[in-house]
Amino acid sequence: MTNSTNQRIVVTGAAGMLGSQIVDMLLSRGDTVIGIDNFLTGATANLSAALAHPNFELISADISDGIEVAGQLDAVLHLASPASPLHFRTMPLEILRVGSTGTLNALDLADRTGATFLFASSSEVYGEPEVHPQSESYLGNVNPLGERSCYDESKRFGEAATDTYRRDRDLDIRIARIFNTYGPRNRADDGRVVPNFITQALANKPLTVFGDGSQTRSYCYLDDQAEGLLLLLKSDVTAPVNIGNPTEHTVLHLAELVTEMTGSTAGIVSLPLPQNDPVRRRPDITRARELLGWNPTVDLPEGLERTIDYFRTLGPVAD
Ligand code: UDP
Repeated sequence: MTNSTNQRIVVTGAAGMLGSQIVDMLLSRGDTVIGIDNFLTGATANLSAALAHPNFELISADISDGIEVAGQLDAVLHLASPASPLHFRTMPLEILRVGSTGTLNALDLADRTGATFLFASSSEVYGEPEVHPQSESYLGNVNPLGERSCYDESKRFGEAATDTYRRDRDLDIRIARIFNTYGPRNRADDGRVVPNFITQALANKPLTVFGDGSQTRSYCYLDDQAEGLLLLLKSDVTAPVNIGNPTEHTVLHLAELVTEMTGSTAGIVSLPLPQNDPVRRRPDITRARELLGWNPTVDLPEGLERTIDYFRTLGPVAD
């Protein structure tokens, strides 16, 4: 855990999987936290510990409409956005709005309060990568017109906006490029592959493998991801930094692991591959290792075990 700091910090997207994990970590190290969420995809249950903490304040609001926070701040961690490919189809305009207007509002908040600004960017800025693994110097291959573009281009815009505030306003910035994060606190109906497979397996329903399952992802456990972001915040690195686990797995292998670990007997079912679904994705984390001293510590079987336990405690999920 990062040292005690006694800072005053705003977290946008505080009720999300990653936002709420970070809120809890900040509170436990002695910071005062103001969490903002519009609960479009966030969950109140994720903030149950925080809401009982005297140093936590929750603002239920859409940051795209503006952000009202009085007083000086040490940091603004801008994590708000729906992030599942399911949401790219069901709430694309909300994604565009929070990625553009919401990000500008969060940047203005940091600028007027003298705060360091951390932007939660994404491996999606690399699009369908033509180089493998992806290092931060790779400029990406994003389709500006496809189904994923609302999210990918929002994250690219967010990076551009953040770096522009650094140059034009001398804002102290951090940019984290987050690779597939999973863990407890993920919604069962989130639509991403790990919660989908686990909830399907626990209900003994076939796991929905999109395409032939040969596409790869590199899955980072929630605690590792949150620790990486806090180390980045504490550093003085203003260039983008990949935060992800560099061990790559096919989707089919993930399905096999989940099947084995849950004892599901329902097998898998093949469904069509979504448009522009990247074929391969793996972070080069040399920069995070060298500049932050960060290394993920939870491997996929261990992280899945913890996540499966979490979903078991939630009980059966409605269809
Ligand atoms: N996927 C799948 N079945 C599902 C959900 C996702 O096979 O029920 C695949 C998806 O096509 C992609 C990978 O799993 O190749 C990771 O998808 P996810 O939605 O978790 O995130 P992405 O990395 O695509 O943003």
